[in-house]
Amino acid sequence: MDVSPILDDLNDAQREAVAAPPGNMLVLAGAGSGKTRVLVHRIAWLMEVEKLSPYAILAVTFTNKAAGEMRTRIEQLLDFPVGQMWVGTFHGLAHRLLRTHWREAGLPQGFQILDSEDQQRAIKRVIRAMDLDEDRWPAKQIQWFINARKDEGKRPASFGGDIRDPVLQTQLRVWTAYEEACQRSGLVDFAELLLRSFELFRDNADLLAHYQRRFSYVLVDEFQDTNAIQYEWIRMIAGRTAHVFIVGDDDQSIYGWRGARVGNILRLGKDYPGLATVRLEQNYRSTGHILNAANALISHNTERMGKKLWTEDGEGDPIRVFAAFNEREEASFVVDRIRDWVSQGGTRRECAILYRSNAQSRTFEEALISAGMPYRVYGGLRFFERQEIKDALAYLRLTENRHDDASFERVVNLPTRGIGARTMEEVRAVARDRQLSLWQAAGRLRDERGLTARASAALEAFQDLVDSLASSVQGLPLHEQVDAVVRGSGLIEHYRNERGERGEARIENLEELVSAARGFESGPDEDMPPLSSFLAHAALEAGDAQGDAWDDCVQLMTLHSAKGLEFPLVFLCGMEDGLFPHQRSLLDAGGLEEERRLCYVGMTRAMRQLYLLWAEARRIFGTDTLTVQSRFISELPPEHLEEVRARPRVSQPVWQGRNRMMKTAQATQTPGGFRLGQVVRHEKFGDGVVLNFEGDGAHTRVQVNFHGAGTKWLVLAYANLTAS
Ligand code: ATP
Ligand code: MG
Repeated sequence: MDVSPILDDLNDAQREAVAAPPGNMLVLAGAGSGKTRVLVHRIAWLMEVEKLSPYAILAVTFTNKAAGEMRTRIEQLLDFPVGQMWVGTFHGLAHRLLRTHWREAGLPQGFQILDSEDQQRAIKRVIRAMDLDEDRWPAKQIQWFINARKDEGKRPASFGGDIRDPVLQTQLRVWTAYEEACQRSGLVDFAELLLRSFELFRDNADLLAHYQRRFSYVLVDEFQDTNAIQYEWIRMIAGRTAHVFIVGDDDQSIYGWRGARVGNILRLGKDYPGLATVRLEQNYRSTGHILNAANALISHNTERMGKKLWTEDGEGDPIRVFAAFNEREEASFVVDRIRDWVSQGGTRRECAILYRSNAQSRTFEEALISAGMPYRVYGGLRFFERQEIKDALAYLRLTENRHDDASFERVVNLPTRGIGARTMEEVRAVARDRQLSLWQAAGRLRDERGLTARASAALEAFQDLVDSLASSVQGLPLHEQVDAVVRGSGLIEHYRNERGERGEARIENLEELVSAARGFESGPDEDMPPLSSFLAHAALEAGDAQGDAWDDCVQLMTLHSAKGLEFPLVFLCGMEDGLFPHQRSLLDAGGLEEERRLCYVGMTRAMRQLYLLWAEARRIFGTDTLTVQSRFISELPPEHLEEVRARPRVSQPVWQGRNRMMKTAQATQTPGGFRLGQVVRHEKFGDGVVLNFEGDGAHTRVQVNFHGAGTKWLVLAYANLTAS
């Protein structure tokens, strides 16, 4: 038997792990040291040398992209179709189990999966049916509560009968009712997939014994991010006889906020007797500058198991740091570098644009679209397809056209105002019978008193809201229209109730929509009102500009979804304090350390070239805000860095307003003699900082952030500003 393909291209430590006699093993090693490679080769070794059946192997990881990658690598190595093998994500494998054993799991055969949004709606229905005050008990918070408890392996009954805490009491009542509702309609949410399949094993000894006999090896990648239920799930399947092969890196644990426990690594030694630990220290992914800078960064963390990483590779290019003037220049710089890369023979899929928050993708998407460069956003929807953006657009559409039925349907009861399914059925029926728009039908029903007083009042509230939004934004500049509608619609408040990352991300996206409107240039249809042209642009952008998976596309994703992947050219964008590290994390040391691990993950995705970018001013909620460079950049040893200067610009970038004078990093002096960042005084508004200016001559306008009065655009000629 020739095992050389399995052992060639491995170093000694890797070979030790791959070719070890069967037993429990932990491979604990830094980024790019070949952990995933070792795991895949171990699978091949077990099949070829230990003669394990492919069905005796269970391999699990976190993201679909990583699981797909693992399957491809196994197929290449063994020339063996992995279709029937149990290689996948935790959720995917749990789902497979429940499909096979639906009866034992107490589910109907055709059970359906609830995605997060469906889940929230279902919880909301329960809250309403229980007559609870929805302001006091927002569905999103209860959803967060339920999922976090399920991830800990709990059920309402786990809390015992005697609960004094009234908040917990109510949460448990809602949870119980929600669970009953799901059970009645055969619905399973994401957290339920894992918990239910765990209980399936726990409560069916025969079934568990069957799987424990079947799987003799359980392999886990990215183990540092397992939460409590995932840990127990693995332990259950492995039982007393199967061996585990676990790979991970404590420095890359980035899901603490979602219940992942790095401590699980420490538990392994107790739960799996004879656990051998292998450490890999050679990095094969990145050049010296990238690797050493990443090592230096992570050494600022105190809670580490500690490890060394070195590379045989040369130093390579230094990491390039680019301070863009603003976020649009940041995007255009990235597009230019990708263009250079491609013109030198590289492909687009070798380039990754990584960012901390989903909302950041928008400026890059716009720049890529106008450059005609195909791209793909992973692990998240494209900007204009996101739920909250569609909600805001629906309000905007209604202010333009009350008869837009799809928009009416979308937001008539969002935020919740007591317009139930019954009322909507009546509205739809009237619209259908009398050939009216939903808007007209609602009005008709109200006039004819065809509804309960409550429903009628709720519809009236909605229609009045839309009418008043429409009249209040008349004549305003586009971005102020968008701003007014986003705020006035109640969407921000609505999403603020959604706790955690998700709600925040939605609010950031809504703020980003205002910024998008501010930077929007109406294009050739000069006659169209700007709002109409903006809405058309949004609809088209949500359409087909995104490349297909198999096209050669630039890759866009958040740092969280980049875990485990690698790219020759990486742009780490938005390196500004408050954005990355994220504002929220600055409150506690643990949070900051998790952000630093995330930065380490991001930097170590890069193979050959790494750019760190930040924008000196960033438009947040339509307002240019001066920023501060991320502290993570200053934690990198300067010998690995090289500052890149902007080239003087000759032509205007396409998204710049036609009538605006382009500012470049060179032109920071306003015609009136003020500088960006300078402190100035206004008679009425007091002291403030100059953020921006546009136009020239008598039309020059300056934007000033006044300490007391907020940000204002002023016509320089009339403002009588003085240097402070
Ligand atoms: P991460 O922590 O980011 O998940 P990892 O430890 O899983 O990284 P891999 O993705 O397995 O690392 O490997 C990183 C890169 O190094 C891959 O391109 C892999 O093919 C290559 N590599 C790993 N080991 C070797 C080796 N012995 N010889 C040559 N290339 C190697
Ligand atoms: Mg890996």
